[in-house]
Amino acid sequence: MQILSQKRLDTVSLCILCETQLKHESLVCSLCQTDCCQSNLEWQDILLRADARHSIQNQYLSKLYSFNTHEYPFANWIAKFKYQGNLLAREALYQHVLSRLALNSEFNLVEFDLVVPTPIHWTRFWLRGFNQAEWIARIVAEKLKLEYAPIVKKCKYTHQQMSANANVRRSQLQNSFSLKPTQLKGLNILLVDDVVTTGATLNQIAKLLMKNKASSVSGLSLTWAKLD
Ligand SMILES: [Zn+2]
Repeated sequence: MQILSQKRLDTVSLCILCETQLKHESLVCSLCQTDCCQSNLEWQDILLRADARHSIQNQYLSKLYSFNTHEYPFANWIAKFKYQGNLLAREALYQHVLSRLALNSEFNLVEFDLVVPTPIHWTRFWLRGFNQAEWIARIVAEKLKLEYAPIVKKCKYTHQQMSANANVRRSQLQNSFSLKPTQLKGLNILLVDDVVTTGATLNQIAKLLMKNKASSVSGLSLTWAKLD
């Protein structure tokens, strides 16, 4: 299964978005690449944006970075990877993460001490076979030469509701996370997830990490699903 899928990846020569012939080793043609740039969030701290202030919870987060707004093609790739285990979508996301990390230098991501993935409940892990946030966090840690630390556990099962409002999400997530025994005193933590919507999950985990004496917790997600 793995070998067949890898072979398929090796033979791709059409843009996976518009299916034109590719001239270079990539999954997306230069025209589609330009389209992708339109949802680029340029490494800004989105907590400082006027349009994020009312929709994102940030009592415990220092900063929040997101690569793109949650739109085509990123939203599709994330869904295909997450729910169908689609390897082309995973490869497209991988290349995207690498290209965005290469442009991070002025944001001092390297000053973080730990890269912590947002956990999923074990039943979801069992059904899906992987945690996409762990996958992203490992890439970030490896490329930035930071310590990867999966130290947070999801101990309570909660239903996924992208559309749920902030208050609903907050009450669902109360006491949902626990921390593996870890010394966090004075550490600056980068918390990684695939999609941020209300920020409730990141905020709850940041609260737990800060209560255990972390110096700061910032978030990084592939996309930001902006609420109207
Ligand atoms: Zn294309």
